[in-house]
Amino acid sequence: MRTKGTEPELRRSLRRLAWQDENCLACAWFSPNDPINADLLERGKCVHPKLREYNLIVSGRDWCNLFEETTRQNIDDLQEKAMKAEEELGLAHSRAETSRRGK
Ligand code: SF4
Repeated sequence: MRTKGTEPELRRSLRRLAWQDENCLACAWFSPNDPINADLLERGKCVHPKLREYNLIVSGRDWCNLFEETTRQNIDDLQEKAMKAEEELGLAHSRAETSRRGK
């Protein structure tokens, strides 16, 4: 049974949830599993100094009151680091493959 006045309040609440943008994806403390392709559904660690001890796994659309907006430079640094790691992994894989074929 609906009570008068309840539904508009619920709709307003849901609208705030749907449009909130101070989420983990935009937070400086979000460490995504895949920084190159991170989106709202991306999962990763929260590395905020006050939360790190809890080993939280969050998604890009989660949020909390410790949010701090990240910078373009921070995103670029994360992506650069991930691309270097992928290149090194690719090189290591390539070397292992060459070594395996050479035997
Ligand atoms: S849980 Fe809070 S501090 Fe951690 S990444 Fe999300 S918004 Fe940032």
